[in-house]
Formats: sequence, structure tokens, C-alpha cells
Amino acid sequence: MTTHFISSEIYRATGYGRNHPLGIARIGTVLTLCEQLGWLEPSGPDAYVESPTASLDEILKLHDPDYVAALRAGEEHGPVPPAIREKYRIGTMENPIFQGLFRRAATAVGGSVLAAKLAAEGGISYHPSGGTHHAMRDHASGFCYFNDPAFAVLTFLELGFERVLYVDLDAHHGDGVEAAFAGDERVFLISTHEENRWPNTGTLDERSTGNARNLPVPKGINDTEMNWLMAEAVLPLARRFDPQAVVITCGADPLAGDPLSTMALSNTCLWDAVMALAGLANSTVVLGGGGYNPWTVARCWTGLWGRISSRDIPETLPPESVALLESLECDLVDDEDREPHWTTTLADPVNEGPVRDRIREIAAAVLADA
Ligand SMILES: [Zn+2]
Repeated sequence: MTTHFISSEIYRATGYGRNHPLGIARIGTVLTLCEQLGWLEPSGPDAYVESPTASLDEILKLHDPDYVAALRAGEEHGPVPPAIREKYRIGTMENPIFQGLFRRAATAVGGSVLAAKLAAEGGISYHPSGGTHHAMRDHASGFCYFNDPAFAVLTFLELGFERVLYVDLDAHHGDGVEAAFAGDERVFLISTHEENRWPNTGTLDERSTGNARNLPVPKGINDTEMNWLMAEAVLPLARRFDPQAVVITCGADPLAGDPLSTMALSNTCLWDAVMALAGLANSTVVLGGGGYNPWTVARCWTGLWGRISSRDIPETLPPESVALLESLECDLVDDEDREPHWTTTLADPVNEGPVRDRIREIAAAVLADA
């Protein structure tokens, strides 16, 4: 199996600023942990690949030229005028303009395009800096500026793939990707997310133009429930579509300990879900997404690369990795809530529990004919 890890140093060099939920260390920690574990090879069948930056022409395939111009102008000329702020939702607390933003967002697009091109030859491309699934055609949303998951899907379509499955495991509804492919029967979209949480779309009965299924799960979902939903609803729906390629947004915010959701999955549960989905087609792109706890994000996405590239997940981490994890900070996670295993291991303890009736109702609803 050919696998590629795609990323860029730009994610270490630029950032949202300390007062933003994404102001925490994320991709930089993943890269360093993978280096420390000897999991990033400069060449060979599972090599690290530097992400290209998408050109303006590429970005305009899915984004409105006026919006893209406003984003560029915002970074170049400073404060965003109120009318622009309102129209494109940039220069706000939610979607701030920061130095390097345009190149960073364009690099996420370039990475997801390359991920699909490489995976189209057969294999799995891993691009954890991707997953900005809320971005809309003509405005920013939910910390996202350009919709790189939609670009991964689009790239497969442009290469001639006729059935592309998009699965969104992030704690929030993959609304931007759903919107991008409304009416396109070549794409089928499945999103699991926490119910009654921002952006409050993706309700159980919402199927876009018929090509989407949404599974809004109740608070506190455990591993047993997620495994059950995967086996009884997500995988059957996916197999029915018979995909030629799969794009997965694997946000780390469904994990126990994330400050922006109450989902309580272990990272092992998410890894198992991704690997089961990756087994459905010869070509798979795996992206990151949300995730607001620097310890659970880093361990999840490091271990996910371990699983994708068929490495053994170590029981304990080497001292330099423990030191790195101990050095992380996060204003949104209280010190007393920090779990000891967040700094010493990669795999979380499994969170087993009963399967609630609501979980069975969700499966029945999404499998039912319209
Ligand atoms: Zn999210």
C-alpha cells in the first residue's frame, strides 16, 4: 500500500493568535512526534511530501473571485472595513485575518489537491493540515477560509472518478462540503457530528439534494455507540454507493477531552473508523479538521499516520515526546482536567458503554428510503 504524508512548515510558522481556539500547537506537534518516532521518511513508499500552494486559478474553481480578492486585500492592507467583514465574515473573532493567512489557506488547498492526485494512483494520502470543511464558496465560516476537502473531492472528479464518497467524522457538520456538491450525483456525503452544536445544520432528516446523509449524535457518544453506527449505518450506506475514491475529514474534536464538543470517543475508535472507510476503495484521502485540545489532537493525528502507514503504535512514548507533550499549553483545558495518559502514550483507553436507543433510531432513519 502506497501512503503519503503531506504537510508544510507554514503551519508552524503562521497562526490564528493566542485568543483563538486554533491558537494552540497542532500540526507542528504532529510533525515533531512523527519525526521522533521515526515515522517520517524523506523518500520511499510512505514518504513525507511538502504541500504545494494552490494557484489563484485553482482556488477560483470553488470560490467566488470577489471573496478571494477581499481575503487577499484584508491581509495586505490591514483592518477589514465593516461592510467587507459582514459580507465575507473575515476579520472577525471567528475568522481573523493574520499574517500569512492567504498562503496558509492556499497551501491547505494545494495539499488536498496533491493528496487526491497521489491517491488516484492507488493508496492513501494523509493530509492532517486539511479538513477546513466549513468554508463556503463566497465567505469564511467556522475558522475556515477555503474548503480544501471539497478540492480533494473535485480533484478526483476531474481525474475521471465517477463515484466519490465524502465522510466527515468531525464533531461539527461538514456543511461547506455538502453545499459545494449539492446536486452532484457523482458525490455522496455522510457526516457524523454532535447534535445541537454549531453550525446547527445537518439534522437527521436533512439530505441535501438527496446525495447526503447526516447522523447528528447525542451528547457523550462512546466508542461502542460509534462502532455500532459505523457497522450498522455508515459502512452500509458507503458500500451501497460503491465508491471509487473516498475523502475523509477526521477532525479530532469528537475525542474525549475536547473543549468544543461533548463527544467522548477514544482515538482508537476514530482510527478504526478511518481505516474501515479507507478499505472501501483503492484511493483514499484522509484529512484533519477541528480539534481544540493540543494533547488529544497531536496524539490522534500522529497515531492515525501510524495506522495508515502500518506502523505499530507504541505503548509508551520516548522521553523527548513526553517532554514535548508536557510543554504544550491550552487556555480552554483546565489543568485539573488534563489526563495523565495525554503526555505518555499515543492510544487512549477504549471508552465502552451502552448503545442508546437514539443511536438505533439514527441508523434506521439514514438507511430508510426518502
Ligand atoms: Zn469540528
